[in-house]
Amino acid sequence: MKSEFEFIETIRRRYSLSKIGDDCAVMPKDSKTDLVMTTDLLVEDIDFWLDWTTPEFLGHKTLAVSLSDVAAMGAKPVWAMLSIGVPQKIWKTDFVEKFYDGYYRLTKKFFVEIVGGDISKTPDKIVIDSIVAGEVKRGKAVLRSTARRGDLIYVTGSLGGAAAGLTLLENGVRYDDGAKIWQRNLLLKQLNPLPQIHAAQDLNEKNVATAMIDLSDGLSSDLAHLCRASKVGAKIFADKLPLHKNLRAIGKSFDEKLDYALNGGEDFELLFTVNPKKKSQFENELKNRNFSHIGEMTANAEIIELILDEKSLVLEPKGFRHF
Ligand code: ADP
Ligand code: MG
Repeated sequence: MKSEFEFIETIRRRYSLSKIGDDCAVMPKDSKTDLVMTTDLLVEDIDFWLDWTTPEFLGHKTLAVSLSDVAAMGAKPVWAMLSIGVPQKIWKTDFVEKFYDGYYRLTKKFFVEIVGGDISKTPDKIVIDSIVAGEVKRGKAVLRSTARRGDLIYVTGSLGGAAAGLTLLENGVRYDDGAKIWQRNLLLKQLNPLPQIHAAQDLNEKNVATAMIDLSDGLSSDLAHLCRASKVGAKIFADKLPLHKNLRAIGKSFDEKLDYALNGGEDFELLFTVNPKKKSQFENELKNRNFSHIGEMTANAEIIELILDEKSLVLEPKGFRHF
């Protein structure tokens, strides 16, 4: 069976759709500005589960996933549209109002204006479509396809927290029902992620990133997308990965924690590449930001190596996919 990525690649080629394939499409706006645009579809019982979240968290996350794609271009989000299809039983409650409260709160945080949407009815499950558009200086959008061999690989923040939060939810832990502080931290990573808008804009202002992608499917898969787009390979050092601090409390082996960090999705951190000549300037100028150097791009096209205990293993993309 075809994967979703193969399908996207097929339609891209068949219809010559040149703007498909990055975190956002980039279109010319005026002589100084490009427009970026992204859409995300969230389906109940596939992408979220009502008894694991709250309407406010779900509203927040709906916008956060799209803001994260705008961040991945080094762009500033400006406008948002939200469409939602709900069954009658949900419409009769205050779910939609609370959902909008969570969504609206995050628009305010990043000065995004809601400019439209649509409402429909579904037979059974909730379906949500989130669209965000933003702006970036003309020609300055940071693409997936422009990493070069020898570039250093960095990530923002920490890894694995969202996937560990998902495991807690699967094991019956609920945010509002007696969760311990460390559990709440992990649940917040999963349910209420913060898109890295400010870090992305800093990176773009300093002209640092040669390529960038956000970590939505999982490091192994998202780095593979970046490698494929840039026609290069990568090498990742296991001991340099910034594991989320509360992974320790979940009490799993190092291998399992590594699995959360490499293959768990939805951390919504940024992965970006930097010309090694700019390393010290960049680390110095942005030392107040939380970035970790985790590896480097190689000439070994589309092969990702994981260096673990001085051994080199091939890292297969094992992140989330629908099909
Ligand atoms: P992300 O995880 O960053 O949201 P996706 O994996 O959803 O990215 O999509 C990758 C690229 O494929 C994007 O450029 C997106 O616009 C495009 N894409 C995804 N689904 C479709 C589709 N059904 N039709 C056209 N383009 C699509
Ligand atoms: Mg993305």
